[in-house]
Amino acid sequence: MSARPEPTECFDLVVFGGTGDLAHRKLLPALYHRELGGLIPEHARIIAVSRRPLSDADYRAWAQEKILAHVTDACHKVLSRFLQRLHYISVNVSEDTGWQSLEQILKGREDVCRAFYLSVSPDFFGPICQALGTHNLITPKSRVTIEKPIGKSGSTAAHVNETIGSVFKEEQIFRIDHYLGKETVQNLMALRFANVLFEPLWNSSYIDHIQITAAETLGVESRAGYYDTAGALRDMVQNHLLQLLCLVAMEPPESMAADSVRDEKLKVLKALKPMDPPSVMRNTVRGQYRAGASSDGGAVSGYLEDVQLQASQTETFVAAKAEIANWRWAGVPFYLRTGKRLAERISEIVIQFRELPHSIFKESAGRIAANKLVIRLQPDEGVKMQVMIKDPGPGGMRLREVPLDMTFAEAFQVRHADAYERLLGDMLRGNQTLFMRRDEVEAAWAWIDPILEQWAKDRTPPKGYTAGTWGPSAAIALIEREGRTWHEDTL
Ligand code: NAD
Repeated sequence: MSARPEPTECFDLVVFGGTGDLAHRKLLPALYHRELGGLIPEHARIIAVSRRPLSDADYRAWAQEKILAHVTDACHKVLSRFLQRLHYISVNVSEDTGWQSLEQILKGREDVCRAFYLSVSPDFFGPICQALGTHNLITPKSRVTIEKPIGKSGSTAAHVNETIGSVFKEEQIFRIDHYLGKETVQNLMALRFANVLFEPLWNSSYIDHIQITAAETLGVESRAGYYDTAGALRDMVQNHLLQLLCLVAMEPPESMAADSVRDEKLKVLKALKPMDPPSVMRNTVRGQYRAGASSDGGAVSGYLEDVQLQASQTETFVAAKAEIANWRWAGVPFYLRTGKRLAERISEIVIQFRELPHSIFKESAGRIAANKLVIRLQPDEGVKMQVMIKDPGPGGMRLREVPLDMTFAEAFQVRHADAYERLLGDMLRGNQTLFMRRDEVEAAWAWIDPILEQWAKDRTPPKGYTAGTWGPSAAIALIEREGRTWHEDTL
């Protein structure tokens, strides 16, 4: 029997941007599921804050509709209990109005955990934190959660961190990267550090290379304005992909304590080989999707049409080869790849082990494929270890590659908690292990900045790729010229 999580202490969770996309697609459903699991204490409240004037009743009706759209089998009794926790306050951050109403609703609850969640444009992170300070809304039990992106470069990220840090202490700041809340990502730590099997092999002597892919089939959807100022390198690589790389590559931390884990991740980021201009040109590929077909075969528009621009240098695809200059990983390439409008929606980490040093089998036994550990983050979370076995039955020694399947949904018959559900719980408990520390964010930017600078200098546009494919052919060349191929799930 697994231990059931305990409810957190009582809280007021103040969600700035409570009417936004993230709030209704992720935060409200995640909080509803926590309610369903009995994880929300009796007197806890969720206070949505946004610009337009709405009554509590209006907001509850809106939230109900949104939750029902995302949670198919909602329990009406639990939902109505959950909705009663919701309150709504109108604050206009740009006009600096409405703060008194927030003061009013929070008054007298200084002894409960007060969690601010900034689900708004990053331009508002600073002004909101400053206003919370000015209006004396920050209590010793306060904390703040901020969403990506944190800055657009190392210096702007430092500025954001500085502004928030002038009001909140580092231990009160939760920088969320929802990839870290995924079940399989945590399982990666369990696989590595709760088994004796993998760790002795987890180095350049046994691992040939590592691939980290986060592929989406969607285009920019409703986020065109944001996306065109960001691009795939800032939107995905700087945070999600580098965080995954850290978890794969870090040394065993002393314990699961937040700073033990984050210290080890930081060491990996600092050991990333900096990209000078020639290595940027050689080891990175940027692409932009053109009109093509969606995964179900329908026609889809190109990026420029989606963002309604004549021209744009923004990349919707990145492939890059990263290297870690330390004893464990010297000579082991980490191939990173992410993009929009690709052939499939897949996020996975592939650990490709080395070929056997010597085969004792005859050629007629078949090719011996090197072992592979495939950690799938989405859509179907799970872990597969590809191993060689003897093909069962008579007919001599014929070898066959089979997956040892550790697909969790089947093995454990449990509903997967969404990453936000877990991360909200961790934040309310004050556990920062799965949140990024300031120095990590800035170290990740230190590796990204030279790539952005070189791309800005290099006037060649991103390489076009047809929607529904795996990106520009240069991305295939990036890995194949080194005698390797991108992993395809063929088993
Ligand atoms: P959104 O545009 O859908 O919502 C923004 C919210 O901010 C709305 O509730 C809006 O009313 C409120 N707002 C806007 N101007 C305001 C003002 N002057 N005063 C008070 N409130 C104001 O944005 P979103 O997609 O929900 O994103 C929110 C944050 O989460 C951003 O930092 C974004 O980068 C990040 N994020 C979003 C997603 C996603 O899937 N939507 C994913 C990762 C990170």
